[in-house]
Amino acid sequence: RKEIEVPIIIIGSGYGGAVSALRLCEAGKKVIMLEMGLNWGKSEIPYSNLLKPGKSAAWLRKKTIAPFMNLFSLTPFTGALDRMEFENINIWMGRGVGGGSLVNGGMAVTPKESYFKEVFPQLDSEKFYTVYFPLARKELKVNVINEEFLKTCPFYKFTRIGEEEAHKAGFKTMRVPNVYDFNYMEREYKNEVPRSAFNTEVIYGNNHGKNSIDKTYLQKALDTGNLEILDLHHADHIRMNDDKTYSLNVNQIDTSGNMVTGKIFHCKKLILAAGTMGTLQLLLRSNAVNNFPLHENVGKNWGNNGNFMTGRNFVNTLHGGTGSQQSTIPVAGVDNWDDPEHPFFTEIAPLPMGMDVATALYLQINRVEKKGSVSYANNKLVVNWDESNTKKMKENADYFIKKMNKANGGTRAHLLFNNGFGANICYHPLGGCVLNEATNEFGKLKQHENLFVLDGSLIPGTIGVNPFVTITAIAEYCIENLIIQNEFSN
Ligand code: FAD
Repeated sequence: RKEIEVPIIIIGSGYGGAVSALRLCEAGKKVIMLEMGLNWGKSEIPYSNLLKPGKSAAWLRKKTIAPFMNLFSLTPFTGALDRMEFENINIWMGRGVGGGSLVNGGMAVTPKESYFKEVFPQLDSEKFYTVYFPLARKELKVNVINEEFLKTCPFYKFTRIGEEEAHKAGFKTMRVPNVYDFNYMEREYKNEVPRSAFNTEVIYGNNHGKNSIDKTYLQKALDTGNLEILDLHHADHIRMNDDKTYSLNVNQIDTSGNMVTGKIFHCKKLILAAGTMGTLQLLLRSNAVNNFPLHENVGKNWGNNGNFMTGRNFVNTLHGGTGSQQSTIPVAGVDNWDDPEHPFFTEIAPLPMGMDVATALYLQINRVEKKGSVSYANNKLVVNWDESNTKKMKENADYFIKKMNKANGGTRAHLLFNNGFGANICYHPLGGCVLNEATNEFGKLKQHENLFVLDGSLIPGTIGVNPFVTITAIAEYCIENLIIQNEFSN
């Protein structure tokens, strides 16, 4: 194996990794970032859309892995969307330079301050709401759709109907900000620029319009000249050396997933930002392979952010369905968070299938009343999670669908998933390396001098809204303080 020595390594190029890279590079540090997925921007391979899945549609699979209706065959390629399958839960995530920002719906939601305080009682919430959240939103280029455009654009009929029906059923709705550039969207609607949101692009990547972090944080970090990103580099496991530095076993692969070269990287400082599941996999596997020291809280306090997918079929409704043309970018949600009996937030989600499928799709986010955990056995990650963890979420989904159907007509969307309930669909795995539990107050892993965790695994299983704005804000807070504390000074 080729041996390479570098001062600072970041594993993973999602939100946490990109924030850390930018702030370290600005402070004059040289950083190497290892990313198992492809550098899509550099490769110039286009992302495929939902109707014609191609290279970007799935990570090394022979079939597509959308949450439903997977009728398409694929030639295995290091695609942008991956899914980890466990006994009672399937977890989707992004692969490639930019991590989850490549595939996600761009919904940029700041959590309610009261819930943030409940989840992170030890953090200075005032500072978060005046400094770190505004900073995250600015760097991520968060913006809001123009109401006039929304009112008239045929691609948002699903949103208008979703809101009308929610109001009729007595629910409150809210506008949801996004990182998709809504000026671009208005221009793509007029066919002045190539279409992306209006061309069924999402979850397999967006060729235009979306400010994913390869275009924001990572680009800024690259512009300093201090960042080098090595794509198609998969970190397999880590060893802690006697002098408390680290050696990483890394496999460089080609776009068919075959190993090209084995490498060993030696570094003084290591940042794990491989996403909740990636970071847990690395830590727990390293522990199994070579007794890597781990605090007992690693793997604990994990949750699905209350993700629960559900839907309704329209029968005998007057509005004539949600339309054959749908934008892939959600801009509205049902906010029922303050209802003490049924607290939830629900995204009014598109179902851009190229035809009117007369179905409304909802991604619900609930509290996580019972947390799960992640462990490692027989060379595999195990998610300890079952129906008891999602019981209350199911009750909330049932309540929501029944109330919506009663007021508006419609039935549960049995065709989409089991009985109309997608309890096992998770887009937001969080926790397992929780701030102040498995790490110190700024993300330094307990029992380690030189290893920091900076990604979704710091959030204890729930944040009440889509998580990337919070992941970004927490990473900003941690890296700022780690730099102040001279953690990266030599
Ligand atoms: P990630 O963004 O997951 O990045 C981790 C990176 O590390 C990945 O690129 C991965 O390939 C790499 N990696 C992992 N293991 C290794 C390894 N061993 N070696 C090298 N590299 C490795 N959130 C929202 O807020 N709004 C939304 O609208 C939204 N929609 C979503 C839609 C979908 C389909 C999905 C899957 C997620 C969505 N999310 C959304 C969730 C959001 O994308 C994630 O919460 C976020 O990306 C997590 O950020 P992170 O920094 O923890 O890690």
